[in-house]
Amino acid sequence: MANIGFIGLGNMGAPMAANLVKAGHRVSAYDIIPAAVAAVAQQGARAAASAAEAVAAGDIVITMLPAGPQVREVYLGNGGVLGRAAKGALLIDCSTIDVESARAVAAAAGEAGFDMLDAPVSGGTAGAAAATLTFMVGGSAEAFARAQPILAAMGRTIVHTGPAGSGQAVKICNNMMLAISMIGTCEALSLGQKLGLAPQTLFDVVSQSTGQCWALTGYCPAPGPVPSSPANRDYAPGFTAAMMLKDLRLAQQAAGASASPTPLGATAAALYQLFVDEGTGGLDFSAIYRFIAKPDHKI
Ligand code: NAD
Repeated sequence: MANIGFIGLGNMGAPMAANLVKAGHRVSAYDIIPAAVAAVAQQGARAAASAAEAVAAGDIVITMLPAGPQVREVYLGNGGVLGRAAKGALLIDCSTIDVESARAVAAAAGEAGFDMLDAPVSGGTAGAAAATLTFMVGGSAEAFARAQPILAAMGRTIVHTGPAGSGQAVKICNNMMLAISMIGTCEALSLGQKLGLAPQTLFDVVSQSTGQCWALTGYCPAPGPVPSSPANRDYAPGFTAAMMLKDLRLAQQAAGASASPTPLGATAAALYQLFVDEGTGGLDFSAIYRFIAKPDHKI
């Protein structure tokens, strides 16, 4: 069993840390929000008063933070992970961040003598709670082999995607597809309703037809057909619209840098921007259904 320092105990990090405890690991947990630390301590983790304290005795350090700036700060900042982690510790960042930050932090970790992996996840908060996440992991084969049994306590599918940064590249492609399919699902449900179809009727047919996708069958944005989806709890997240917008911007950045045409990705980013501008960034990303289905909408 490993000693694990875990930093970032939000919607995803908290259940992931709890699953590591359940698997028998000793977890020392830290978040800038004291209530988040207290909640994970109730699940059996040790409460740490700082990131430095959380990682001091860890064989493994795991971070689950909002975005690139927080990851840079936590690893590279004063009192950060690279200055405080135990010699030989393996560093695993599970946050979704820009490829450039992932590569820069991994390079700094290498210079400081640490192996580091970018290991973003897919599967949402339900997958985090059920330990069924998919991990896409960038870094060396040796580091991947060392991380695998730890990641297996939090996920079901663990894929080595290539060198540092490649996990993030897979993740932003996935989320661009997810946003596009979520918007498509919302448009179809909204059109169906205007044509007199109940969401359940459309769901029953499309979930068995060629329009089937996870946004519909796993996370239906209209209340009713999928009881576990955020639509049935007034769109409490889940995965916030602000986070989805962040990922769509990352995808657009990467598309620009690699001269890749992504017209639907660009449209999805523009629609999420309009939605978030209404002050709805804290809602689940599937709440864009409300925006698209507005009767008087002129998108
Ligand atoms: P969240 O905002 O709920 O959690 C992030 C946590 O990090 C917060 O508790 C925050 O207080 C903490 N934090 C921020 N700065 C910190 C610092 N300097 N030191 C310590 N703690 C700090 O976000 P989340 O939904 O858990 O997502 C985390 C990451 O996972 C994001 O990159 C997101 O894109 C990605 N992700 C989320 C989902 C999802 O469904 N929520 C799914 C896949 C991937």
